Order: sequence, then C-alpha cells, then structure tokens
Amino acid sequence: MRTDQDQPVRLADYQPPSWLVDTVALDVSLHATATRVRATLKLKPNPAARAAAPLVLDGDGLALQSITLDGSPLPAEAFSATPDRLTIAQPPQRPFTLEIETLVDPTANTQLSGLYRAGATYCTQCEAEGFRRITYFLDRPDVMAVYTTRVEAEKSEAPVLLANGNLVESGDIPGTSRHFAVWHDPFPKPSYLFALVGGALGHIEDSFVTMSGRRIVLRIYVEPGKEGRAGFAMEALKRSMRWDEQAFGREYDLDIFMIVAVSAFNMGAMENKGLNVFNDKYVLASPETATDTDYASIDAIIAHEYFHNWTGDRITCRDWFQLCLKEGLTVFRDQEYTADQRSRPVKRIADVRALRAHQFVEDAGPLAHPVRPEVYREINNFYTATVYEKGAEIVRMLKTMLGAQGFRAGMDLYFQRHDGHAATVEDFIACFADATGTDLSQFMRWYRQAGTPELAVTMSYDAKAKTCTLDVTQMLRPTPGQPDKEPMVIPLAVGLLAPDGRDLPLTRANAGPVERGVAVLTRPAETLVFTDVPERPVASLNRGFSAPIKLTANLTPDDLRFLAAHDTDPFNRWQALQTLASTLLTDNVTALRAGRSMRTDPGLIDALRAILADPALEPAFVAQALAMPSEADIARELGKDVDPDAIFAARTALRATIGDALGSPLREAYRRLSDAGPYSPDAVSAGRRSLKNVALDLLAASGGSAAIALAARQYHSADNMTDRMASITTLSQHPVRERQAAIDDFYRRFESDPLVIDKWFALQAAIPEASTLERVRELSRHPAFSLGNPNRVRSLVGAFAQANQTQFNRPDGAGYVFLGDTVLALDQRNPQVASRLMTAFRSWRALEAGRRAKAEAELRRVAAAASLSTDVRDIVERSLAPA
Ligand code: ZN
Repeated sequence: MRTDQDQPVRLADYQPPSWLVDTVALDVSLHATATRVRATLKLKPNPAARAAAPLVLDGDGLALQSITLDGSPLPAEAFSATPDRLTIAQPPQRPFTLEIETLVDPTANTQLSGLYRAGATYCTQCEAEGFRRITYFLDRPDVMAVYTTRVEAEKSEAPVLLANGNLVESGDIPGTSRHFAVWHDPFPKPSYLFALVGGALGHIEDSFVTMSGRRIVLRIYVEPGKEGRAGFAMEALKRSMRWDEQAFGREYDLDIFMIVAVSAFNMGAMENKGLNVFNDKYVLASPETATDTDYASIDAIIAHEYFHNWTGDRITCRDWFQLCLKEGLTVFRDQEYTADQRSRPVKRIADVRALRAHQFVEDAGPLAHPVRPEVYREINNFYTATVYEKGAEIVRMLKTMLGAQGFRAGMDLYFQRHDGHAATVEDFIACFADATGTDLSQFMRWYRQAGTPELAVTMSYDAKAKTCTLDVTQMLRPTPGQPDKEPMVIPLAVGLLAPDGRDLPLTRANAGPVERGVAVLTRPAETLVFTDVPERPVASLNRGFSAPIKLTANLTPDDLRFLAAHDTDPFNRWQALQTLASTLLTDNVTALRAGRSMRTDPGLIDALRAILADPALEPAFVAQALAMPSEADIARELGKDVDPDAIFAARTALRATIGDALGSPLREAYRRLSDAGPYSPDAVSAGRRSLKNVALDLLAASGGSAAIALAARQYHSADNMTDRMASITTLSQHPVRERQAAIDDFYRRFESDPLVIDKWFALQAAIPEASTLERVRELSRHPAFSLGNPNRVRSLVGAFAQANQTQFNRPDGAGYVFLGDTVLALDQRNPQVASRLMTAFRSWRALEAGRRAKAEAELRRVAAAASLSTDVRDIVERSLAPA
C-alpha cells in the first residue's frame, strides 16, 4: 500500500518523457505466490525531450531479482532499486536494451491492481498505475510500445493463457508439467492497456465479418459451467462492432477479440487491447439470475469497452489529466449506441437521472473538480461521474452545436490526425474547430470550470408586437480552488408551443431562423427575441437536456401540466412532471420541518393519470413518468439543511397518494402488462415489465394488503429475476410478514450464485427502518460476506450508504461510524474500493446541523487513523477542506 505523502501532480508541470520504449518483451512464469517476470525493454532517448537524463522507472512494491544492460549485468553502483523506483543515474545516451527480472506474489495482492488472483484465475489490472506493480517501467500513457508477451504456467492450473494481440505460438515445455503461449500486439500502446490472464476457464466463440470483409474471432471466457450465461454479452459485442462501423466508420483491427469475466474486480470492466477484462456482473446473464437492468448494463458496458478500441487504445491520453478524452467520449458513444438499440427518449431520461444523481451531487460538494482536473494526489480517485458523465455531456453539446454532419467531420479528423498518438483535450477540440471552422475557445471552459451552471429564464409575450422574449441569465458558483468563474457556452434547445400543442417556427429578431432549435448562449445575461409568434406560447426549454445545467423558469403549474401533456419533446414531458413533483416535495419537506401539514397537488395527480391513460406512450416512458424524484433528488434540490427523515416522509406520502388516487388504472395496467410466455430481455418487453412493476410498487405504497399479497404472489411465481427482484424489493419496503419469508426463500434459492447473493445483501441494506443498521452489521458477519470481494462490499456497505438515505444518515451518527469502520478495515486490503465507499460523505455539508456534526466527527476520526492509503486520505482531506 502506498501511504507516503506523495506530492500532488499538476497538469502545468507536464514534461515529455526523457526516454521512449520501442518494444517490450515480457516473459511471465505464473506461480501462485512467486511469479517471475522478465521484462526486456528496448529504450531510446526521446528526441523531443530537452537534455540527457537519468533513467527513472516506476515501481510499486517490487522486488528486483536481476538487471542487465545490453546483456551485461549492471554493477551495483550503476543503479538503485527501491520497491517504488529503479534509477540508472548515467545511462548511455543512445538506444539500449534493459532486462529486468522481478518476483511478484499474485495471491497476496488484495488491492486487485497489478497481477492478482480472482478466485483461482490469474489476471491483471493496469489502469491507471498497476503495470508498475508487475515490473519497473515508464508507467505513463505517453510512453507507447509494441508488446510481445510469453506466459507460462502449470497446465493443470492454467490451461488457458491469454495476453493482448494475436497468438503467435504455444506449446508444452518438454520434461515439465508446464506450457506456454506467446502473444504479439502490433499496435503500440501505453502500459495501462497491458493484460494477461491464466486459468481454467471455459469459453464461447463466435465470429464477426468486418466492413472490409475480415473475419474476426470473438471469444468470451468465463468460469467453467457459466458458458450458458455469456450469450447475451456475445450478441451485444457483435451489435457494438457493427454499430461502430455504421455510426463512426470504425473497424476492428486485430484478428481476435477476447473478453474475460472475473469474479473480483475493482471497477466495471477494462479495455485492454484485444483482451477486455470484465467484472463478471457485466457479462453473465440468464433470465433467472439477471434483471432487465442487468441486461441493459451488460449491453452498455460491452459496447463501452469495445468502443475504447478506437477512443482510448488507438488514440490514447497524453497524461491522466486527459482522462475524459477517452472516458467522456466513450461514454457518449455507448449512450448513443444504447439509444439506437432501445428507446432514445427513455435512454436520455435514464442518463439524465443518473447524471443528476451522481454528477450534480459531486459538483455541488467538496469533491467537485473540473472535467479535466488540473491537480491530483491520487489518480484512482478521478474515475468520477464528472470525468465520465459530464465528460460525455460535453461531447453531446459539441454534436448539438455543430450538427450531426459537423460532428462526424470532427470525429473523422480526430481519428485521421491522432491515430497512434497520445492526445490531449486541446487536440480533440481542435479537430472540431478545424473541421467546421468554429471558434471553440470559450467552449473549452466546460473542461476547466467545475460546478453546474445555473440558468434562469423569464419568458414574456408581447401580443401587439407578436414577439416572445426570453431573458436569460447564467451563474456558476465557486467550487474548490475556483472562486471566480467566467460565462459558459450553453447550447439551449428551445421550443415554443402554441395552445394547440404545435411547435411554432422559431425566428429570432435580426438573426433569422434558429438552426436545429438551438440557441447558443455565451454571455452572463442575454435576451432572445422570437418574432411572428401569433399567440402566447408555452416555452419548452433545454429540450432533450441539451446542456447539463440547472434551469429555473417562470413556468406556472398550468404551463408545466401543459408541457407534460403536449410537449413534442418527450424528455421535457417527463421533466415537466418531475418539476411539478419536485416543487411539491420540497414544499412539503419544508412544511414538515416547520411542523406544518403537507399539501397535495391534484393537478399533478391528474397529469399522471393522463400519462397512464395515453395509449400512444411507450410503457417504459410511462414508468419513468410515474417514478417520482428519488430521496437523493429531493435532497439535491433542497441543497442545504437536509433532513433525510422529512424527505422520506414527504416522498412516501406522495407515493401513497398516487397509489390511492390511481388505484384502478394502476391495477388495470398491472393486469394488462403481465405477459405470459418466455422471458425476453428486449427493450419493449423490459419496458412493459418496468411499468407493471412501478404500478405494483405504487399500489403497495398506498398501504393496501391486497397489493402486498399481489407482490408476494409475484415473488413466488416469477419465472425471471426482473419480476422476482421487483416484487421482493416492494415487499422489503414494508414491515410485513411476507417480507422475511421472501428474503429467506431468496437465499435458499440462490445460495450458490454469487451475483444473485449480491442482490440479496443489497436488498436488505436498503430497508428504510431503524433496525436496518443492526441487520447490516449482522450481515457483515454472515459466512457469505467478505471484504475480499468488491461486488460483495458494494452490495452490502455501498448499498447501505447510497440507497438508504434515512438509515445511513441516522440522527445518532451510527450509520456514519459503521461506514468509517468498514473503510478503515478495508483500506488495509483494497484502498481503491475503500476510498470509493468514503465518497458517501460527499454531501455532508448540506445536512441539517445535527447530522452535519456527526458526519464531520466521523470524517475527522478517519482522517486521524494511524495509517491511511493515499486514496482514502485524499478523499477525506478534500471532503474536510474549508468550503
Ligand atoms: Zn471507459
């Protein structure tokens, strides 16, 4: 574990590497506790660097066994080797060959970075700085080399041996029980994209013929016996490959593409060249074990990692500050892929919900940082919603402003200009500026300025002049390290709706027609005047969530109900309902806190009833419309003095009212959408199930025992995990007899299925009752619980801290102490997962005074712990830094 107080790394200090690596030959002899790694590096001075320099290679916990230079052992006085660094003070200033031997212990590697074991399988994880835990190297993304990897192992222990690229050679090692395989990857890559795998794995195989007619072998490796659950992932892979050809002209480049599913993984998945390694949660699916949401995540993540082959691997990042260059762009690409596979508006709604729930919250608290940070202490802490999701929104805004053609021209230029390079955000943006002749210098602020811009719009109508005016102001609050902000470029998609629901043509005074309905704002305050508006319209603003902003407008409840019923932009129909609900909920929270009684909003109920009754709407959309803002959404809207109990009470009351008032149409929808016949994960079937299960949940919320009985019946008769999980989740929210019976049954049914048992832990951690903390403590002593498996930790402790607002935020602070204890215990083993858990405190300053004090005390207790990883220390210190 790295516990030294590293100096912060700054973007402004970037220097090109003094040395380059042309080729790397790795010879890895796998052994459970003593794996020998021999690395042969062909090095040369970088002509672009300024002066002759020592050679300093990165390491992390390494034990050097031997070192030679051009074949001769290096004398002891010529180098120094610590676990973290190998220095040759006076290397020859010409190309030379270095051969380094290290010994690593994969079984002792509990951080899951570098070479480790997931169960019995050997695998590697090198992003961001894991390669240096395997061998000494220039472990930075702008050092790109061609890799040849020889892996050897006991045949019985690891019959399958994989690495990046194409297989060149394999065979037995005569006179031993060992065998080997040699893989060669012709594409130069940074060390973070290196991977090898060894183990007793099963696989499924398929093939794909590319746009130029090349036949690619596709393989997905899984634990033996689980091959039958990899079929959906394979279909997703083939769809992704075709889509990237059609949407971006990108063809796959090696002869084989492999995915390996492992049971212990810190993140979702990893785009190693030609050899993606996945958390098995995002590969394995069967109707009995995976929900519709699981299927959708698999589709998106398979696509995401595959798309990285061009946006990440062929064109990589110059340094880790540029992380959004590959991640934001690749998230945008996977979002567009999914939108094309499913319902585009429903996908957009789901993505915006997630953006607000994670990124907006991050941007409003002490962990706020620019999409391209300018300083970091621990890069692992920057795989954030801001870099990924807000990064994707920036790319989406580019497309909105430049149009589909201009956007594609910029992308084409990017692939042409930077293929094989380690690029920067400036390089990327320059391609769009050059391809379309657009000045994007102010737009660059989206990468530099943290925080969510707030836009206030006042609409007025002049009946005599027949003009409609939007007065718009923008504001960006200070964030850590950025007290003063400059105005942003905001592409605001606008519609003006006539009283009959028609979209009026948009013509701006002195500026002509509004291209694609998007007004591009650049100043702190501006006035948009639309001419030839025959009647007072209703403004539909930020359509499709064209910019990732907080919007307030002088829309009346009548306007919002009108938009909910008539907007031609489906996103804003949904948004109008959310705005109505959110206003009601925040008002009621305030009322409860002041000891006043809550109000109701019959207009909202009527609007929901109309949505439910509209046969033209797809069920998945109706389900989104009926899903009220989450507790976290309401907390975010309130912004300060947050009392999670009051929020829970207000939200529960609203859901009960809806269940009550819409009882018969909800029951009718439940019946109508209860399909017989075999399960299919397709978007239409999934949409029908989602509305059916939302209906069930609302009916149960209104307190009827009939709905509880219905949920119990659905639980026991379900033939798929979506329906089973939805009904047990509904039951879990109510203190009824049927609940524990279902929980016990669930465990018995799925005892031997780790991914399903994760759901069992998460379900219980989310019960909104005072006894839950005790239950969670008990579950942390359950034989199936272990701090060694990140999925298991996230399912119990992560779910408790993120999905259970009232119990994590208990007024007595005991939820915080439990989280702190877990983080401290886990930090010794797996700092990356520990620091992730710690981010649950990111909104502590927004809490009401009592909880705020308890949360602060817990943060201070963790900060004072004797030994902390750089990962957790960084999160804790930034969380506590004066606002
Ligand atoms: Zn990614």
